[in-house]
Amino acid sequence: MNKDIHKGGCLCGHVRYETQGQSELTGVCHCRYCQLRTGSAFATLIYFPLDRFEITSGYLRRHEFLSESQKKWQTNFCEKCGSTLFIELEIFDGLIGVEAGTFDPPTFWFDVANEVFIRSKAHFVGDIVTINKDDTFFSYAPKSGENPRLSSSLK
Ligand SMILES: [Zn+2]
Ligand SMILES: [Zn+2]
Repeated sequence: MNKDIHKGGCLCGHVRYETQGQSELTGVCHCRYCQLRTGSAFATLIYFPLDRFEITSGYLRRHEFLSESQKKWQTNFCEKCGSTLFIELEIFDGLIGVEAGTFDPPTFWFDVANEVFIRSKAHFVGDIVTINKDDTFFSYAPKSGENPRLSSSLK
């Protein structure tokens, strides 16, 4: 059981965590929220059930917002250096989406099953090795006009 523990943490070392076992869900996301919250072209998320993810040291701060589909998001980041360690999504209740780049080496120890929001994928990102691909996301259902700044459509 203890064999399958993966540790990770933020850039400054204040926040540390551990996961147990294999992930429930893995994905690369090119949505505008992930681009904005990471400052990068896409996010890589490795989901674990709450009872197999543990913060072992440090304090986090949290930012909550609603997506254009009126679903809740929470981003959880180190109060000192700002690295985002994990997200919690209303649609994946009971799961923690760990930011893949925060695992200790071997950092990218998993395969990625899903690639989503391909419609806003950066043109310079080549083929990503995944099983499933989606132009948006299974639960994508905008309830209101999308703010152009946040919109993941190309227009
Ligand atoms: Zn930190
Ligand atoms: Zn996203």
